[in-house]
Amino acid sequence: MPVRARPISSIMKLLCEHQGAGRAGGPPAGATGRGRCAFTLIELLVIVAIIMLLAGILVPSLGNVWEITRRAICSAHLRGMHTALALYCGENSGNFFPYRQKAEGGVLWYWGFEDTGAGAPEGARPIDQSKARLAPYITQIAEKTCCPSFPRDYQYLKPKFDKCGYGLAINRMMLAGVEPRRKWDQVGQPSQTVVWADSAQVNTWQAPASPSNPLIEEWYYLDNCRNQPANFHFRHAAQANAVFAGGSVRSLKPFWLDERCDGLVGRPEEPSSPSEVSSLLQIDK
Ligand SMILES: [Zn+2]
Repeated sequence: MPVRARPISSIMKLLCEHQGAGRAGGPPAGATGRGRCAFTLIELLVIVAIIMLLAGILVPSLGNVWEITRRAICSAHLRGMHTALALYCGENSGNFFPYRQKAEGGVLWYWGFEDTGAGAPEGARPIDQSKARLAPYITQIAEKTCCPSFPRDYQYLKPKFDKCGYGLAINRMMLAGVEPRRKWDQVGQPSQTVVWADSAQVNTWQAPASPSNPLIEEWYYLDNCRNQPANFHFRHAAQANAVFAGGSVRSLKPFWLDERCDGLVGRPEEPSSPSEVSSLLQIDK
């Protein structure tokens, strides 16, 4: 037999009748033909306190759920970019792509083509991601190569292009032109070598950023050298997502964090050298 839900009005009526019945000496609800429904101030305060308590429990939990979701999306994007890079290398004799290359009418960055003819200012430079190196291997590349937790509406963000790019960066040693040149199958310990990770850097030298006005911007390669700005971004509950050459995605904890801006740009380990990449990025292990 199907169970019919009671309308809210009938539930309120029941509550009122219960309240009237429980009040010593009080008239029963409905005695005058119209049930009186009145809560005392203390009862209302108790209800408000319960609602606030539940909200206090649920709101942080929902925040955690959203962050877990964003982290999962980021991980999926990193795995997709790892697969796409492997496919690219497979079709190019194992070679990696260059960071940038001159092209007719502009510059072909590995994440897209920039038409430099218009002379657009920093923050509005046009980028065509359909021309990215990995575009043939990733559908919807503009969406599938971004980290959903990159702070696009952040008050300290300095945009570079007319649309936000990756928010993810590649191991600098996996760029063609970095000597000595390596190939995909020369990675010594795939399970110990980061390929892509959450990335951003603090800019103090390019307007509107300045030493007194540091701004955060998306970044495109990872090196973790002592003489270079930190370029890992620990945006997932103070951890950075990274995909390793072996295909696993892991969360990196910061070894050091830059206190400026959001305080989440940093290093996953101590740099071993002023100019060489740190251990997580070394290919020749
Ligand atoms: Zn991410």
